[in-house]
Amino acid sequence: MNKEGINPYQIALKQLEEVAEKIDLDSGMHEILKHPKRELTVSIPVKMDDGKIKVFTGYRVQHNVTRGPAKGGIRYHPQVTLDEVKALAMWMTWKCAVVGIPYGGAKGGVVCDPKKMSSGELERLTRRYTSEIIIIIGPECDIPAPDVYTNPQIMAWIMDTYSTNRGHSVPGVVTGKPLAIGGSEGREEATARGCVYTIENAAKHLEIDMREATVVVQGYGNAGSVAAKLLHQEGCKIIAVSDSQGGAYNPKGIDSLKILDYKRKTGSVKAYKEAEFISNKELLELECDILVPAALESQITKENADRIKAKIIAEAANGPITPEADKVLSEKEIFIIPDILANAGGVTVSYFEWVQGLQAYFWSEREVNLKLRDIMSKAFNNVLRLSLEKKVDMRTAALMLAVSRVAEATRIRGLYP
Ligand code: GLU
Repeated sequence: MNKEGINPYQIALKQLEEVAEKIDLDSGMHEILKHPKRELTVSIPVKMDDGKIKVFTGYRVQHNVTRGPAKGGIRYHPQVTLDEVKALAMWMTWKCAVVGIPYGGAKGGVVCDPKKMSSGELERLTRRYTSEIIIIIGPECDIPAPDVYTNPQIMAWIMDTYSTNRGHSVPGVVTGKPLAIGGSEGREEATARGCVYTIENAAKHLEIDMREATVVVQGYGNAGSVAAKLLHQEGCKIIAVSDSQGGAYNPKGIDSLKILDYKRKTGSVKAYKEAEFISNKELLELECDILVPAALESQITKENADRIKAKIIAEAANGPITPEADKVLSEKEIFIIPDILANAGGVTVSYFEWVQGLQAYFWSEREVNLKLRDIMSKAFNNVLRLSLEKKVDMRTAALMLAVSRVAEATRIRGLYP
């Protein structure tokens, strides 16, 4: 159960059930896909700066590895639960399938509050967590990456811990690494860039002029702040942004980079001088063309769905809209670009990073972005086509495509023994 009293895993199962019916999925296959392949819970003892030992709980869940190694980020957050990680792992399976990259799905999480920890504590936590999950991760079996409140430095510690245990450098064990140790050009911006590519496609389909569009962004971390920057560059007007502490609103427009600078200095966007304060709740309900939820799950629920006024919602976050809210938004004819499509740019460039690392041959940022655009646009158009053909919303279409691909791979491989 998360803060809102909603269990994301139950949501993921419900989505699967609805899609199973739509694609006439065999009941045995449905049973297989409902269950994560592996769930690992670990205790992580860490010596804190005051000399005391604190034991944290961590998880790594591999939902499916039929189409390739398990892939997915690791989040550090005080509210992480096993069921949340299970849901996120399942969504990774669908995400990789919908963009057609050869991975299964996984996710990891550690229950901690990284904002209250020193860099030394975070390093010790990361290294111990890595050595606890080392039995199931590796470049051929499960490849972690950044997620909420984890970053390239944390990926570097994971890579180093894993490599030290193996006795040689293993860059392919993790993606989202710093460039100096085998990261990819374009990876840090990839989640947002991919999201913006899908927004451009959606705007074209809906005949919305991006140069006149107004944008609201919830969450100003890696996905949200870069999405605001790129949309700003496209000519959109960013009228409101927020982070976990609150938001800033200015109908005349906010400079996405200036406010990022302000957040870096003060820790939040909320008291930004050239805008007025707005709560996260109010922000979601602003009238705008494009709403980008880029924070946590279950932000748009049956409580507020009716008051959402955006034309397009691009889910840069995973699971920001609950199924009940989905129904309300769909009746209001709001065009939703679902998470497994909208934020798949991150894992797509993670895939590029892994491929470059395995080949020890690195590409330019231009090459990365062009390949990313190809994959995102193709996936968007495949999902849009299916949604129009089957008269279903974009989320249902994306899930239909993804689940069918995973089911087909499972069928072809057959059941062992
Ligand atoms: N954490 C990101 C996601 O939810 C990226 C995962 C990855 O790059 O493996 O898609």
